[in-house]
Amino acid sequence: MVTIKCSVCRRKLFRYHKVGKGKILRLYKERIEADYSIHRGNEILCPCGNIVGIDVGPWIKMKGGHFTVSGARERGFKEKKRR
Ligand SMILES: [Zn+2]
Repeated sequence: MVTIKCSVCRRKLFRYHKVGKGKILRLYKERIEADYSIHRGNEILCPCGNIVGIDVGPWIKMKGGHFTVSGARERGFKEKKRR
């Protein structure tokens, strides 16, 4: 689970189940655990006015540099090696 925060005011915007490596470019709605953002039309904003993404239907297209990510990705599918 990761926490996504506004890069301007550091407010918490999402709790998200991240799977896989790499940067977050999209937030799949089915993986959003908590949403503290403001939805105005298809724009996703922080309460401070920073636009962090665009709602395109099944996911939110995130704007790079407008948010920060902290926490670890899920490791649930990783199997332990056994002898
Ligand atoms: Zn903000």
